[in-house]
Amino acid sequence: MSESFQVVVDVEATALDAAGLARAVPEDAFPDAEIVAEPTVFDAGLGSGPPICPLCGETGEVQFSSYLEAVESWWDGDVVDPACVVCGQYVGLNDWDWPGSPWAVGNFGLRFWNRPRLTPAEVAAIGDRLGHRVVLVYGRG
Ligand SMILES: [Zn+2]
Repeated sequence: MSESFQVVVDVEATALDAAGLARAVPEDAFPDAEIVAEPTVFDAGLGSGPPICPLCGETGEVQFSSYLEAVESWWDGDVVDPACVVCGQYVGLNDWDWPGSPWAVGNFGLRFWNRPRLTPAEVAAIGDRLGHRVVLVYGRG
């Protein structure tokens, strides 16, 4: 049986912020969370995608390929926003729409295993605590 995961990804924390956040989040605040404090591609697995351009609404496997190339660049340390293959506009890696769970890239996240789905209010509360915009990534792994 596969396990379910949810990650609340801080999409604004820099690599420098991440260590400070890891220290600032008290262990008893999220006792069942695993703290991720390094550059990470939080992918939702094969069940999610392809991404949908939030500007023109187009989607498809070519769109996904373009997105994945930009993710590879991010991983290599470059900030490259993927361009929509249809309208040509650049969309930040964390700003695409997704049919299911989004993907996200970031330097800090709280990962929960086998937990009932976090409510939007719980996700927002974590974002408030971190002081940054957060994205909820979920899937099975
Ligand atoms: Zn577009």
